[in-house]
Amino acid sequence: MGEFDLIEKYFSWDITDSPTQSFSVSKSVGDDAAVLNTALNQQLVTSVDTLISGVHFPEDTPAEAIGHKALAVNLSDLAAMGAQAAWFTLALTLPEIDETWLKDFSRGLKALADKFNMQLVGGDTTRGPLSITINAMGFVDNGKAILRSGASEGDKIYVTGTLGDAALGLGLIQDTIDHKKILILDEALKSFCKKRLNFPTPRLIESNHIASYASSCIDISDGLLQDLSHLTKASQTGASIDISAIPKSQALEKIDPALSTSLALSGGDDYELLFTVVEHHETEFLQSIEDFSDSIHCIGVMTEEKHIIRDTQMKSLTPSGYDHFNDE
Ligand code: ADP
Ligand code: MG
Repeated sequence: MGEFDLIEKYFSWDITDSPTQSFSVSKSVGDDAAVLNTALNQQLVTSVDTLISGVHFPEDTPAEAIGHKALAVNLSDLAAMGAQAAWFTLALTLPEIDETWLKDFSRGLKALADKFNMQLVGGDTTRGPLSITINAMGFVDNGKAILRSGASEGDKIYVTGTLGDAALGLGLIQDTIDHKKILILDEALKSFCKKRLNFPTPRLIESNHIASYASSCIDISDGLLQDLSHLTKASQTGASIDISAIPKSQALEKIDPALSTSLALSGGDDYELLFTVVEHHETEFLQSIEDFSDSIHCIGVMTEEKHIIRDTQMKSLTPSGYDHFNDE
């Protein structure tokens, strides 16, 4: 099997017959470039992320999970902008053609793409150490993108889902956690955490619901404090966080409390959304998310003290999370 058969067999997908796809994709895989129709009253939102084997996922990660995650991390960025997902391209570097791997990878990728009506419209295929780059594209109505810079003092800080699960999953896979700290964690909860790491859910549905109320938004990929610090920096504010209000899964509730707090504050890879809501919109906002009230929680408030994050005891919290060029 060569490069072109591989593309034909695993990545030349039919255009779905959803109205958005059939309207927007004029030329997909198979020419020198894709041709996409955009609407005049909308802006294109585009984001690219690379996953490298051994850096972004453990080398023995199942191919299906890699396919899922490569798209999920990009969809999460679109969700953080309040965008509707539409198209993506895939640049794939493979050490060899392994059809079992390719079948599982493309299955994981396509399942998530179908779930959110995303069309694969092009890409590139090369040989080398395993790496996957996806460029996801979507759109927002003109001027409606939710930026990191939109928060003000007094805005309430919210998060979707629960935090720290993916980091616990990684610790379990890599066996880097002191066993005494996770004594009563059963198999079901362990596999829940690994699933949170390998199959993150991009919060596009939630994003759709919060978009008209959120003053700013970011996705939590590098840890709550780290990503919150990006938001406070862009918005020229500080933040006060009630650590006891950070939503935790059953798994995190069962482990050593200090470890659990540290994972929830600084663990990466959860791909939940962190966003702010202007105080006088809060009542209306809370009514609008009634159906999601179990999965959206207020954890604090933006403050005027620029770039400083504190807990409710006024202790300052130092952002720490993953940084590719800073291993401290
Ligand atoms: P070119 O040499 O013009 O870049 P390629 O031979 O790289 O063209 O690709 C041929 C077609 O296959 C293009 O439409 C390209 O977008 C698509 N393609 C290549 N690799 C992939 C991939 N991994 N996933 C989806 N489409 C791909
Ligand atoms: Mg090419």
